[in-house]
Amino acid sequence: MSSFNPSWSETCPMSSPVGHALAGIIVFTVAKHLFPKYPWSWKEMLAFVLLAGLPDLDGLWVWIGHIPRHIAHRTVSHSIFFSVVAGVILAWLYQAGLKKRLVHFWWLFPLVILTHPLMDMSCVDYMPPRGVMLYWPFIRDFIYRPIPFMHSVGTYVVQGYPVWYGLVVSGAREALQFGSVLLLLKLMFKFQRRNAQSA
Ligand SMILES: [Zn+2]
Repeated sequence: MSSFNPSWSETCPMSSPVGHALAGIIVFTVAKHLFPKYPWSWKEMLAFVLLAGLPDLDGLWVWIGHIPRHIAHRTVSHSIFFSVVAGVILAWLYQAGLKKRLVHFWWLFPLVILTHPLMDMSCVDYMPPRGVMLYWPFIRDFIYRPIPFMHSVGTYVVQGYPVWYGLVVSGAREALQFGSVLLLLKLMFKFQRRNAQSA
């Protein structure tokens, strides 16, 4: 297995969609707790899940446009600049489309998108250029700040495992890691609400 040495274009250094989706649900859960007067619904939760995965649409350039992954992927769409611009536009479209006033919550849209590059740059990644272009267009360096317990899909691919295996293993790890955080938050908020009601 270890003798397998895939080219850059064959690797997939990122968090899995499971981790990104759970990050969106975590932001939704915290927002729902902090701003209880807003009529939160499954629509916001779905929107946050989709927003958290949005930056990986740049993979289409690789799959359809056949542009090398290190040029097309984890660059423009994985920056703070993109998160803010896309988030503001999408918050406006969401508000206009659903006729639901986000008012004070528009900033959650850019925030949810930003969780994506922050997670990708935190994944242990063995294939250069490591990380994401977080500060594009001002700085075009790939920013990489790995956290030891977060492994990218590429971690498994460079060991010779197929991409589907990397996705499954990374997805399972993230489900455990982020699922535990989500569960803890839900229990904590429930406990707080119960205390507030009985006080
Ligand atoms: Zn990504």
